[in-house]
Amino acid sequence: MSIDSIPKDLRTARACLVCSLIKTFEQFEFDGCDNCDEFLRMKNNRDNVYDCTSSNFDGMICLMSPDDSWVAKWQRINRFTRGVYAISVAGRLPNPIIREMKSRGITYRSRDTSLK
Ligand SMILES: [Zn+2]
Repeated sequence: MSIDSIPKDLRTARACLVCSLIKTFEQFEFDGCDNCDEFLRMKNNRDNVYDCTSSNFDGMICLMSPDDSWVAKWQRINRFTRGVYAISVAGRLPNPIIREMKSRGITYRSRDTSLK
């Protein structure tokens, strides 16, 4: 992912509930999530984009070199692709998707830091 993929129009920006990647609604609909589309399947599926992303997020981190960034480790995004990530994402994944992730051995952890 290049710097060009940073959303220019933040009014339509949404953050992925699983990895907190920020893109516009259209980017999620056309490309899916760069990290999670294997199980979120948002590509060409508007319903899933609504279910698996949130327009209610806080803070932004620009992730450029995931491997040597302590911020990335702190945010648990150091294994993800380069891009812009939210610090906190409000909302919760639908249960069927949480189950699907579990069946793949992935534990869903909410990105909503306001819940603590
Ligand atoms: Zn994601």
